[in-house]
Amino acid sequence: MTDVVIVGAGQAGFQVAASLREKGHQGRVVLVGDEPGVPYQRPPLSKAYLSGALPGERLALRPQAFYDKHGIELVCGRAVGIDRDRRRVALADERELEYGHLVLATGTRNRELPVPGAKLDGVLGLRTRTDADALRERIGGARNVVVIGGGFIGLEFAASVAELGLSVTVLEASDRLMRRAVSPAVSAHYRELHERRGTRVLFGASVVALHGDHEVTGVELADGSVLPADLVVVGIGVVPNTELAADAGLAVDDGIVVDEQMSTSDPCVSAVGDCAVYPSRHAGGPLRLESVQNAVDHARCLAARLTGAAEPYASVPWFWSNQFDARLQIAGLGTDHDEAVVHGDPEAGSFSVFCFRAGRLVCVESVNRTPDHMAARKLFTAGGSLNRDVLTPGFDFRQHLAAMA
Ligand code: FAD
Repeated sequence: MTDVVIVGAGQAGFQVAASLREKGHQGRVVLVGDEPGVPYQRPPLSKAYLSGALPGERLALRPQAFYDKHGIELVCGRAVGIDRDRRRVALADERELEYGHLVLATGTRNRELPVPGAKLDGVLGLRTRTDADALRERIGGARNVVVIGGGFIGLEFAASVAELGLSVTVLEASDRLMRRAVSPAVSAHYRELHERRGTRVLFGASVVALHGDHEVTGVELADGSVLPADLVVVGIGVVPNTELAADAGLAVDDGIVVDEQMSTSDPCVSAVGDCAVYPSRHAGGPLRLESVQNAVDHARCLAARLTGAAEPYASVPWFWSNQFDARLQIAGLGTDHDEAVVHGDPEAGSFSVFCFRAGRLVCVESVNRTPDHMAARKLFTAGGSLNRDVLTPGFDFRQHLAAMA
């Protein structure tokens, strides 16, 4: 039985290990991670954990007893090199791990803000539990919070601290929120939601410097204005951790390049999760996603292959984000849609946006409308579409699916 070494003990790495055991893998399973403690989930870091509603012990994906029971060896260390000829992974502390199959699940890291002052005290990112703990410590004493980047993580953070009564300003370089991921209708809804709770949102805002001696005191914009700030959160996207793969001679192109079964060009090395770029049936080309669904489904697909039940990866992408009392759920990929139909009542805070490309439904974004989201996932999984003419005011997605079936 092959010994599997997994580098990266995040959502995807954990899931590979758990699924291998679930599917009866008998060889060694070694999970190498460079963060302290047992693997944990990241989504609450910008939501319930940040606000204190979720205690730290609930972040763990499983308790230590799970790993003991299933014979999953947790190794704390940083992988620094792969010798593909000898099938060994070198760790920073000079240990070496021999593998039959190697899984790279190294995730991403925060993109750094390329301006003077970015390293001042009080300028933080949000990726790890350590980051969230540092933010929690700062929030108590903060008076002026500036969030750089109006994407999911920046906005979730902004919502969490606005609910704690802090003054928050969100700086977005483009002309709308979550631009990379949602339709203009959803962007507009979330802008209103944040502004209604007292958050200031500035568009076209380009940060040129952060001011302060040791501690940050202000954020300077390209127009010369300086916003007072004693806590700055930078959420301007991530960079995939591909260096290990590239140094080992594996193909890398904004992610570790894998095929439909998560294999790199070396049949003994696979990659999964945020760090992997794969041929997506839904995108019709190479795709790298940053979501829990993607990490979990990649991992399950790989574990199935390694235990002899290979199937090409075909999962429908889906995603969620919680901001205030609005639960956004997205099924499918809507980035280059050419038509969007709003169904439901945005004013009442419950609606879905049906996004079409060349007449085909490619994505459904639902705000506080979980039944639509679930119906969309079902429809996309079955490879179906929807005629936009059915989207009359009385349209019920679940009933429509049942009738189609
Ligand atoms: P990661 O979880 O990043 O894990 C990679 C691990 O590998 C890390 O622990 C890293 O330190 C480790 N590593 C890297 N290099 C090495 C090395 N050389 N040696 C050893 N270890 C290494 N997704 C959603 O779908 N919904 C949400 O609401 C949502 N909210 C989020 C909120 C926050 C604050 C963040 C940060 C992310 C959120 N995400 C959300 C995204 C989701 O958490 C990620 O897509 C998911 O964690 C990806 O899993 P992964 O295992 O691929 O990568």
